[in-house]
Amino acid sequence: MFNDPVDVIPSVGEKTKEQLELLDITKVGDLLFHFPFRYDHFELKPINEIKHEEVATIQGQVASVPTVSYFGRKKSRLTCTLQVGVVAIKAVFFNQAFLKDKLQKGETVTVTGKWDMHRLQITVQQLHTKSFDDEQTIQPVYHTKGNISTKQIKNLVSYALKSSLDEVEEMLPKKYLAEYKLPSRRQAIKELHQPSSKTALKHAKRRFIFEELFIFQLKMQWIKEHNRKESYGLPKMFEEEKIKEFIDGLGFTLTNSQNRVLEEIIFDLRSPYRMNRLLQGDVGSGKTVVAAIALYATYLSGQQGALMVPTEILAEQHEASLKDLFGDLLTVELLTGSIKGKKRQERLERIRQGEVDLVVGTHALIQEDTIFQNLGLVIVDEQHRFGVAQRKSLRDKGLNPDVLFMTATPIPRTLSITTFGDMDVSIIDELPKGRQPIETYWVKENMIERVHQFMVSEIRNGHQVYVICPLIEESDQLDIQNAVDVYEELQDTLPNDIKVGLMHGRLNPQEKDEVMRDFASNDIQVLVSTTVVEVGVNVPNATLMVIYDAERFGLAQLHQLRGRVGRGSHQSYCILLADPKGDTGKERMRVMTETNDGFTLSEHDLQIRGPGDFFGKKQSGLPEFKVANIVDDYRALEVARRDANEVVQHNLLMNDPEYKLLRHMIESDPKIQERIFD
Ligand code: ADP
Ligand code: MG
Repeated sequence: MFNDPVDVIPSVGEKTKEQLELLDITKVGDLLFHFPFRYDHFELKPINEIKHEEVATIQGQVASVPTVSYFGRKKSRLTCTLQVGVVAIKAVFFNQAFLKDKLQKGETVTVTGKWDMHRLQITVQQLHTKSFDDEQTIQPVYHTKGNISTKQIKNLVSYALKSSLDEVEEMLPKKYLAEYKLPSRRQAIKELHQPSSKTALKHAKRRFIFEELFIFQLKMQWIKEHNRKESYGLPKMFEEEKIKEFIDGLGFTLTNSQNRVLEEIIFDLRSPYRMNRLLQGDVGSGKTVVAAIALYATYLSGQQGALMVPTEILAEQHEASLKDLFGDLLTVELLTGSIKGKKRQERLERIRQGEVDLVVGTHALIQEDTIFQNLGLVIVDEQHRFGVAQRKSLRDKGLNPDVLFMTATPIPRTLSITTFGDMDVSIIDELPKGRQPIETYWVKENMIERVHQFMVSEIRNGHQVYVICPLIEESDQLDIQNAVDVYEELQDTLPNDIKVGLMHGRLNPQEKDEVMRDFASNDIQVLVSTTVVEVGVNVPNATLMVIYDAERFGLAQLHQLRGRVGRGSHQSYCILLADPKGDTGKERMRVMTETNDGFTLSEHDLQIRGPGDFFGKKQSGLPEFKVANIVDDYRALEVARRDANEVVQHNLLMNDPEYKLLRHMIESDPKIQERIFD
């Protein structure tokens, strides 16, 4: 019956069928995989073992006729005496007067509620059915929608277990069941719905955690392998010696991390496989230099390179610094939306003719009619702003370059191997020597005057200041008002010769550019901004960042913002203005003041906010697991990843009959088709 529609179940009519559809349950078999999202453990406890204010389940005999008193308009209080062993206690039910008839004197009842040790009183949350003794003490709780009750779902699941469980096939090879002592798929499904004991339930969960993570990792690695095989690029050929010379000319020595990732990248460039690599490194860790070396290698092998960034101003900054870096070695040109008309036509023509070696621009660069003569490498900065779609659009243009994504958001390892499991990942995890760590302080908002004084003193030393006002997601109107208020307040309080600028999302691109340019040239000393301060903007003379309502930001974001200062040789500071109410808020502020390490912070962020919120809702790209949780189950994730890798490397999906079901599952997943390049 597994594949039959749910309405073959006698109790399911048209209405119920529709309601079940809301839960994505259309087939009888779907019920089996509608797992409970939590369990209530109702274990009877002797009164003398229950702690004060603990929620517990007790059984007793109704020893008095219950009384109901009403107060207020709709509020009621039902009380009766329960004889529990030798103790008489009082049971109180709020707003459940209708239960009066169920409490017949002399009957035995079971209740769950909060225990008050001093008054010998239980405030009842749940009155159990008479058959409590026959039920399991671990009660599954299901997600429901519409007006389907948990009880109805339980009954339907029970029907499905009886009729269809036998049709469920094992997916995992025996090897893993034996090695990790996992119950069979059927057994685990049964236990998840009707747990026989806490231990059995734990193992059932363990099995599905592994199954989910393993299948997920198989998919990712299968995509990776597939794309690698399908994507022969041109192997790049260049002289090692020339690269060395270039590095020697930089004026500093590369850090060990930079050298390591460079080796990884160069290996990819030389191989016939198309590179699909993510480069992670904290702000200022020297990613751009590594990118430049890779672009140089591409040039040496006679191919063109492109550097794609999220905004025009960043594109201009990169163009300037790359021109600086390369001098006469190669030709760098800018291509953005505001380069128009004849100039644009000329530039496009030169790119097409191969007269331009390196093009820097916004993503218009690959989406519009730019034709390259011989595009060998695309580097995408701040990749989280570009989606899978953009990766694919490159391919759709018939281009087959190596691609390197760069991000300054340190991504915790668990997230990195889930979200980017189909890519190779390189990490720069150290900063160049001699960097002065940014000093971070957390102050209460009533200290604002002191903060103003500090701003003035930094400015008198010739430096500049960023002031960040938080983004209020529900309303960018309010958000902007907030920034305007701070802007006006600063104009009023700071000495007149100090120029204050304002930047927010409602400004048009030209206005934004103008403000940024004024700040970059120190015509503005204080820049008040919402979080639109562009990632990657480089104003080395800015030494102080003040963040209003800092508790509203995630740690990763605070760190990202903080990275705007500390870019020059001067000591820099970050001041967090915050009055967090809760302990986690305080903890986060404390962590910020104690570490400058982006990875440490991102791990904290993940712990505090959970995987769903880490990247922000829209672009999380995270898979949804039913049982597994990548934060709590990171060990299982590592194990699953290792196992999946082995399977893919040995091509077991294709060769071993035991993997047939897994293979089928992977091949039929539509999401996988999206990620595959063909
Ligand atoms: P990122 O792109 O990771 O934010 P950049 O590549 O822009 O970092 O580097 C930040 C600054 O540090 C640049 O001015 C760069 O020239 C300098 N830099 C990069 N690598 C080193 C190094 N190994 N030693 C000293 N300075 C470096
Ligand atoms: Mg950068």
